[in-house]
Amino acid sequence: MLLTVITPCYNEEQVIQETYKRLTEVLQTIEYDYELLFVNDGSKDKTLSILSELAAQDQHVKVISFSRNFGHQCAVTAGINNCKGDLAVIIDADLQDPPEVILDMLEIQKKEQANVVYGVRKKREGESWFKLVTARYFYRILNKMSEVQFPVDTGDFRLIDRKIIDEFNRLHEKNKYIRGLISWMGYKQLPCYYERKERFAGETKYPLRKMLRFASIGLMSFSKKPLKIATWLGFIAVILSLIYSLIVLISKLINPSGFVLGWTTIVLLIVFFGGIQLLTIGILGQYIGNLFDESKDRPEYIIEHRINL
Ligand code: UDP
Ligand code: MG
Repeated sequence: MLLTVITPCYNEEQVIQETYKRLTEVLQTIEYDYELLFVNDGSKDKTLSILSELAAQDQHVKVISFSRNFGHQCAVTAGINNCKGDLAVIIDADLQDPPEVILDMLEIQKKEQANVVYGVRKKREGESWFKLVTARYFYRILNKMSEVQFPVDTGDFRLIDRKIIDEFNRLHEKNKYIRGLISWMGYKQLPCYYERKERFAGETKYPLRKMLRFASIGLMSFSKKPLKIATWLGFIAVILSLIYSLIVLISKLINPSGFVLGWTTIVLLIVFFGGIQLLTIGILGQYIGNLFDESKDRPEYIIEHRINL
């Protein structure tokens, strides 16, 4: 049996050596063979040269390096696509997900014959209140909106088996929301509770811009509700405007001479309907944009170097 540990890395020069050390300490104690598959997602710092050095010293280390930054989900996808293991673990490079938890995951997998063991964050240390609040509500709102139910407070940190890996490799959609896709597959999926630590060093590689993009991908790829909301907004606007027309008409009938429509009302109406129209066109646009990405059918990532592979 071979276990592949997939680690996406983007500008992680400050942590990568320590991650390698901690992972190796843990993996040397397990009964399976292992490989450490690092996916360098177009880092601009020394990440790639550190990984090359590690790979030269240790044959367990394999490296895939992208031609530019394609994003976290693409890096994980490349890891799964190129993984040889019978089992694979997806783990972040920053040691927020403690490598020791892999032992618990392996135990649950073995005891229960699970196909997926996903990490559930009991506690998150050292994150901003903003991240905690947005993450908390994002997972819950997504569940309300989506046609599939996902476990909440779960990231990509998980153990998957060969069945899941093979199924995953059959998915060719762009803009993947990996944690959602894996839950969507079914099979036997069990939680493993752990405490999420502070980043070992360096800064988050998920600024607000990337977080929003990620959230919208999650929502759009598992829910058509935003389109329904757009329709409902249109419907409500029509009803409101009918009511308003009635009011205007009746006032005119009651007092034909002295009735002058106010400037404020006109401005408010324009702003209100203009807003609804832009919002709904925006929602439509997002879905069309996703269709556009699918129809171009570009590869999700481009690999520039492979080391020990
Ligand atoms: N990451 C990546 N490409 C990116 C952004 C992030 O490969 O464009 C990696 C990053 O190196 C880390 C993981 O994805 O291993 C999670 O990123 P981070 O820890 O910065 O996110 P956070 O934990 O703050 O949500
Ligand atoms: Mg992190």
